[in-house]
Amino acid sequence: MASEKEIKEIYENGMNILEDLTNNVQEIQELVLEEILKRNAGTEYLSRFFPNGQADNQSFKTNVPIITYEDIKPYIDRIANGETSSILLAYRIIQFLLSTGTSGGQPKLIPMTAESFEKRMSDLLLSDLVTRKCFSGSDEGKSLYLYFIKPEMETPSGLKASCFTTFYFKTESFKNGLAKFLTSPIDTILCLDNKQSMFCQLLTGLLQRDEVVRFGSTFASVLARTIKFLEDYWRELCSNIRTGYLSDWIIDPGCKNAMSLILTRPNRELADSIQQICEDKSWEGIIVKLWPKIKYIHCIITGSMSQYVSLLEFYGGGIPFVSPIYKSSESSFGINLKPVSKPFDVSYTFLPNTAYFEFLPVGKDGEGKAQETWTDDEPVDLANVKLGRYYEVVVTTLAGLYRYTVGDVLKVTGFYNKSPQFQFVQRRNVVLSIDVDKTTEEDLSKAIMKAKLILEPLGIMLTTYSSYADTLLTLGRYVLFWELKMKGSNDLPKLDATIMEQCCCMVEESFDFTYKSHRKGGAISALELRVVKHGTFDELMDFYVSKGVSVAQYKPPSCLKSEEAVKILNSGMVGKFFSPKTMF
Ligand code: AMP
Repeated sequence: MASEKEIKEIYENGMNILEDLTNNVQEIQELVLEEILKRNAGTEYLSRFFPNGQADNQSFKTNVPIITYEDIKPYIDRIANGETSSILLAYRIIQFLLSTGTSGGQPKLIPMTAESFEKRMSDLLLSDLVTRKCFSGSDEGKSLYLYFIKPEMETPSGLKASCFTTFYFKTESFKNGLAKFLTSPIDTILCLDNKQSMFCQLLTGLLQRDEVVRFGSTFASVLARTIKFLEDYWRELCSNIRTGYLSDWIIDPGCKNAMSLILTRPNRELADSIQQICEDKSWEGIIVKLWPKIKYIHCIITGSMSQYVSLLEFYGGGIPFVSPIYKSSESSFGINLKPVSKPFDVSYTFLPNTAYFEFLPVGKDGEGKAQETWTDDEPVDLANVKLGRYYEVVVTTLAGLYRYTVGDVLKVTGFYNKSPQFQFVQRRNVVLSIDVDKTTEEDLSKAIMKAKLILEPLGIMLTTYSSYADTLLTLGRYVLFWELKMKGSNDLPKLDATIMEQCCCMVEESFDFTYKSHRKGGAISALELRVVKHGTFDELMDFYVSKGVSVAQYKPPSCLKSEEAVKILNSGMVGKFFSPKTMF
């Protein structure tokens, strides 16, 4: 695990390390690949591709196929069932990581070695260093970071499987590093009951409100949920502070014990000031009002998380966001070297020592947007990607993934020294699709961002959205779910049919040429917009969490594939609108 010495080295010398890495991209990438092959070419999986035993970087690119999870799943399953991990990789697997991506309904299992864990840690530390350098004074004070864990699974071979954060929060690295700066005691983070955990973490955050300089979580979705929780529980939190007694439904021994050391006396003054802030009808800027010394909000807010930008901007009251890192269970990819970038301008600089990266060029349509399909072009190396082009990232790791497609489409937006910087565009397989049309996650998000501008002057906020393709009709249609609330309160806005129809029109008008021409030609039915009441998307998250997704990893699906999920959103529906038939 990342030793204290290594952590110290990164904090003392991190900026030089970054310069070195980003100036020597090609050389470092070649060395990384050489090392991976030196160790692993003899494994059962890789040796098939090197029949004459020569496993150099060139023959790797010629012989080893580009794959998806399904291609290595048989090997992973064999390891999970007790065979030696050396069939796939030379180093020992310490455990599997559970990815939010699924295969045949089951979460994907990604091998992790002690070394691959360390690589991730060094990216996290570098990103933390860059952020701290950017915000003076943020070295002092504490972080109110809402972190959660999920029960681990055990494979028949006895290897554990969990999401990365669940593993990380139990390590000494966390205990001796980041945890020291947190307002949340470790035991509240390690509590398996997310509700008790959230209550205690918010309570400790409020008790130490004058010390909090950073607010955050892994993903923006968790912060949106945190605010909702605060709306539901602020009275009870205030009463705990006022009386000095912890609510009796907090029964987790770790939480109770940790809270007994922090909630030690009644504090009427603090409870009164929090109450006064929360009683305000408008919660605009609630985060900065409750924690006035916060310098930034730290969470991934790009990709599918961008739907939370305006909601969190509203509650943040002008505090900047830092979207620190782009990573997955498979690998860590890049860090944000310009932490002050606005959420929609964030790019991640790839670090060449993390893994060996290749990029499959992805086609663009006439309007220059990324398409679903790869072009026939060969994959290119990290050092050879071109500015403005779209690619799908392919990764070869030290932990048993060889030319593995992650499924994310990225766009090259610039270079830091020689290292490319990428904007996250979309997950490749997330599309709304009816016979004649495919609409990508990116198209959908852009169209909705435009349409919601119609509602903003009326004081109406779109807090979350999702969608599905209704293909049961003779002519398919896209159905959108929007959770709406008034800006100043959680009240349901008055829904004016004409305005809501205008929103439908704006979404359709913003879709691409193919959609519009089929809609005009009558091959697609009018878009439907279902408005759901405040809190409905929390039920959707509860549903996915009950199915095994971790709260910390949860990404709200832009497009629903499950009938049960659609049912949940339908149950919160308060209004239904259609694009006017005459629009095209
Ligand atoms: P998981 O393996 O479950 O942690 O999910 C990883 C996936 O989350 C990635 O492949 C991306 O699709 C998404 N993701 C992670 N980091 C970011 C980011 N900074 N911006 C946008 N999407 C991200």
